[in-house]
Amino acid sequence: MAKELTQNEAKGYFGEFGGSFVPPELQTVLERLDEAFQTYQKDPAFMEEYNYYLKEYVGRENPLTFAERWTKALGGAKIYLKREDLNHTGAHKINNVIGQILLAKKMGAHRIIAETGAGQHGVATATACAMMDMECVIYMGTEDIRRQELNVFRMELLGAKVVSVDKGNGRLKDAVDEALNDLVENYETTFYLLGSAVGPHPYPKMVHYFQSVISEESKRQILEKEGKLPDAVVACVGGGSNAIGAFSAYLKDEDVRLIGAEPAEAATLTEGVPAVLHGFKCLCLQDEDGNPAPTNSIAAGLDYPGVGPEHSALKLSGRAEYETVTKAEVLDAFQELSRTEGIIPALESAHALALVKKLAPTMTEDQIILVNLSGRGDKDVAEVKRLLEE
Ligand SMILES: *Cc1c(COP(=O)(O)O)cnc(C)c1O
Repeated sequence: MAKELTQNEAKGYFGEFGGSFVPPELQTVLERLDEAFQTYQKDPAFMEEYNYYLKEYVGRENPLTFAERWTKALGGAKIYLKREDLNHTGAHKINNVIGQILLAKKMGAHRIIAETGAGQHGVATATACAMMDMECVIYMGTEDIRRQELNVFRMELLGAKVVSVDKGNGRLKDAVDEALNDLVENYETTFYLLGSAVGPHPYPKMVHYFQSVISEESKRQILEKEGKLPDAVVACVGGGSNAIGAFSAYLKDEDVRLIGAEPAEAATLTEGVPAVLHGFKCLCLQDEDGNPAPTNSIAAGLDYPGVGPEHSALKLSGRAEYETVTKAEVLDAFQELSRTEGIIPALESAHALALVKKLAPTMTEDQIILVNLSGRGDKDVAEVKRLLEE
């Protein structure tokens, strides 16, 4: 994507990570976006509207459920589940989508573009566009369209136009490039809605802001239920949006351990090296030639060779810890939560659960683990059936 690189040192860095490595014409568009975000973030009417839709459309606040049977089964720390799976569309992604769409409206855009790999961000975006009466164009690699037929149909039902990208490998990266080209051409009417805590500045900070509702709620809820903060907060990490939302309100509470779970097959924070990817600097998995390495996670939402710049910085500073879990551990946790709690988790979320399964027994009964259940697993049952039969 980057032809001439410009680097904005002043803004958008988390330690050495983040920034904005994009062509000059895109830099101008991003600066305009940052200004608008800074303005509306402080505007009480904007935040009132955002909170209105979170309540009336998304269904917040969602519960913090005590996982009583699972806690007993594991024997150790008390486990609480933050129920992002109960949001409209079944995951945390909608929190950010609502925030960015409202910002787009304020900026005078009537057309939303987004890219999607597995289709989950595309579906959340198409959903909110239908409700807000915005034109919606979703860029998707040809290969991903083939693999995600049902999500493509969902997006079309919701009134979105799905554009097939057959450049490159026909995957997420190629869809990102096409979406960015569209944005540079049509920035006066068009808003690029990014789905995770990645990308050039100001996206990581914006997504952090719109997802922080997760931990603002959970902190209030745990104090109400237990009268103290949790000992650990656990979340899965793909690009890092549900994790940063789950960690945000606890960042300054040094006694609360913040732990991210990533797939052994896409262990960006564990094995990555600093590099520039998709317009920002982060820890990144590379092959021998320095290109982004292919990843192979069973959870589509975690299958990305990069990760948000803020997580990259939290890893280096040691404020957050990141651990890998294996495919077998994930499948085991997926089934165990279903059986003990009657909740089928998303495969992504099952990565966090797999880590909790190892962590809880090492802790005492008066300690608390809060795990972010980022999404529900209905979308994954066919895949899990296939994997278990293998
Ligand atoms: C997309 C997705 C993720 C991964 O994205 P993050 O930005 O890392 O949160 C995790 N869980 C679910 C349910 C998802 O849909």
